[in-house]
Amino acid sequence: MGTAVSSAAGDSGEVVHPGHPVVPGPILLLGAPGVGKGTQAKELVKLWGIPQISTGDLLRSHRDRGTELGKLANELMLQGKLVPDTLVNDMVAARLVEPDTRNGFILDGFPRTIPQAQWLDNWLAEHCNALPVVAVSIQVDYTRLLRRITGRRNCPVCQTIYNIYLQPPRIEGVCDVEGATLVQRSDDTEMCFDGRMRTYDTLTAPVIEHYRGLSRFAEVNGDQPVADVAAGIVSSVERLRA
Ligand code: AMP
Repeated sequence: MGTAVSSAAGDSGEVVHPGHPVVPGPILLLGAPGVGKGTQAKELVKLWGIPQISTGDLLRSHRDRGTELGKLANELMLQGKLVPDTLVNDMVAARLVEPDTRNGFILDGFPRTIPQAQWLDNWLAEHCNALPVVAVSIQVDYTRLLRRITGRRNCPVCQTIYNIYLQPPRIEGVCDVEGATLVQRSDDTEMCFDGRMRTYDTLTAPVIEHYRGLSRFAEVNGDQPVADVAAGIVSSVERLRA
């Protein structure tokens, strides 16, 4: 399969990485808060050179710029609630038409509701005559997620994600790469976690069932070292693209 995909991709001018001759196309990373979607998306970006599109990051950027969407999002985020579907869909639509999505993209944190999933399916059918979407669900035991969420710290410069319990930086509170002071997301507290998990169970878990019902779906155990989870996702995508 590798050769055929590689040669077809080469003919159409797409970037094919040696050793990983797969054209990734649209990939959805699904899973509860704290399963490692963002960390894994960054691994796939390095491998495939396609963009990570995190709706959480896009909304935080709106918040930091003080836009109307950002102000609304900030309040909802702190309550563990979701931003209304139409606002998030419009934001995603604007991002998906950017030229760097030509060979594919990794959606991280979207879709999070059934209406978002239906919107995405229709949008891709209308706009993307390339590859169908591949959905990978990352699974981590519920009881381990709280530790992952409350221990999470981010570098504000390079966006590297650490965990003070599981993957601490060499110097406490300081990014290994940039030397910047690490920050904690305002919704990564135990109080917010509860609301986020309730939202996840009610609104987002059905999205996993929606994609499980389609043929291009895989599950990966997220309770392993980062590289092993990444390897599981890559081999799932390669298999589903074969
Ligand atoms: P995340 O960084 O993916 O954990 O998202 C942080 C917060 O942003 C969520 O708790 C929601 O309040 C909001 N958010 C992110 N993605 C979505 C989405 N697809 N739909 C609605 N709200 C979202």
